[in-house]
Amino acid sequence: SSTARANIGVVGLAVMGSNLARNLASREGNTVAVHNRTYARTEQLVTEHPEAGFVPSESIDDFVASLAKPRTAIIMVQAGKGTDAVIDQLAERFEPGDIIVDGGNANFQDTIAREQRIAPTGIHFVGAGISGGEEGALHGPSIMPGGSAESYETLGPILASIAAVAEGEPCVTHVGTDGAGHFVKMIHNGIEYADMQLIAEAFDLLRTVGGLEPAAIADVFAEWNRGPLESYLIEITAEVLRHVDAATGKPFVDVVLDQAGSKGTGVWTVQNALDLGVPVGGIAEAVFARAVSGKQAQREAVRRVVASRPQPQRVDASFADEVAKALYASKVVAYAQGFDMITAGARKYGWDIRKDRIAKIWRGGCIIRAQFLNRIAEAYDEDPDVATLLEAPYFAQAVADGERAWRRVVATAAQSGVPVPGFGAALSYYDSLAVERLPAALVQAQRDYFGAHTYQRVDRPGTFHTQWSGDR
Ligand code: NAP
Repeated sequence: SSTARANIGVVGLAVMGSNLARNLASREGNTVAVHNRTYARTEQLVTEHPEAGFVPSESIDDFVASLAKPRTAIIMVQAGKGTDAVIDQLAERFEPGDIIVDGGNANFQDTIAREQRIAPTGIHFVGAGISGGEEGALHGPSIMPGGSAESYETLGPILASIAAVAEGEPCVTHVGTDGAGHFVKMIHNGIEYADMQLIAEAFDLLRTVGGLEPAAIADVFAEWNRGPLESYLIEITAEVLRHVDAATGKPFVDVVLDQAGSKGTGVWTVQNALDLGVPVGGIAEAVFARAVSGKQAQREAVRRVVASRPQPQRVDASFADEVAKALYASKVVAYAQGFDMITAGARKYGWDIRKDRIAKIWRGGCIIRAQFLNRIAEAYDEDPDVATLLEAPYFAQAVADGERAWRRVVATAAQSGVPVPGFGAALSYYDSLAVERLPAALVQAQRDYFGAHTYQRVDRPGTFHTQWSGDR
């Protein structure tokens, strides 16, 4: 009908949905239908942005009628129940070939289940991870869509029109089927946790051991941002550290309570890593570090019983450079672990995920955007089956170059009493991979002793069990 004139619709017009709808409307060729449960929100958006040419609907029926076929609607409502409610409303009215996109922060397992539920209707259900917060939604996010390849033929160009652009390429790719997009978005957030924790540890070291004030550390970070560590997170960290609290005149970072919150995607990453059996210590330690920060009772209890704290070690002017190298090497480990988890997830859930493309779509729009991702894209482009990023020539060299500094920084932190769960876990992971023999041999022998779990030998094939009681 003549009213069906929008090529794309958005349901849910809180901050994310509104911004995404405005972004869509600003691109040539898009006419955007908008709907929100509470109509006042729709009216407000349309009134405030006449330039967008929105097609508003008060009822879900009118919204569906305003969409040209194949109907394509992006849901941006509260994750969980709200999302299910809207999916059901749309699925009742859509026809085979139409596309429902969930752009919220869904758990990928929910996305897999929802896709299975919708698939028999012939309607495409696409879970799309959208990163970059409010600003990203408005100016260009990194978008990680899953769902069918067929739906991507319609959806791909629309998403490409609003995605961030990095070196001429839109930050969107068809990640894989069903929940692949939300899975990769989850890993993105896990890596983000690790990256933030490592940066925070670098700050702590520069301050506590290096003796620098936040403003001076801001300069160090700004300098780092001109080298291989260049990234959005390093850039904003410099700005945060330069910021002075208006009320007290103190460095802003000093007036913020030292307890970090979280919304759960880091926890999801670690929970799934445990299920997949992928060691992601760098990410897990970052999640735990936030948890520790909130353990007020334990922190106070231990502070009470501790008689004295170690003095910070004396360091020279090269310390900041060493911390930069430790940060870089630890960061390589965290990303290597995250990408290993993508490999494991792809295997378990049957996704064909191009890791080079994932690295590329993270170069713009999202929180972990960084130059560094070009190197990861190159590594996976050269050899998609590389066993770990640490093996790729560029990273092997980079870690080798920083290794001495990395060890010195971790040792200095330990002797100075500065907690470095991120740096420490990353170095231990690296050493675990690099060492000739692991004490896992002893663990396996213990298992055989108390549980007859058997073991294999280094000198001949087969499975063995020792009659331990007979030895005694
Ligand atoms: P939100 O606060 O998570 O959700 C509010 C929206 O959900 C409103 O439009 C609300 O409609 C609607 N809603 C809630 N329950 C509903 C129901 N049962 N039926 C229909 N609509 C319902 O909004 P947001 O912050 O814009 O986030 C939207 C999604 O994007 C979430 O999944 C969020 O996790 C994800 N996300 C957010 C960010 C961010 O930076 N905020 C970044 C990435 C992803 P009413 O107006 O009628 O209440």
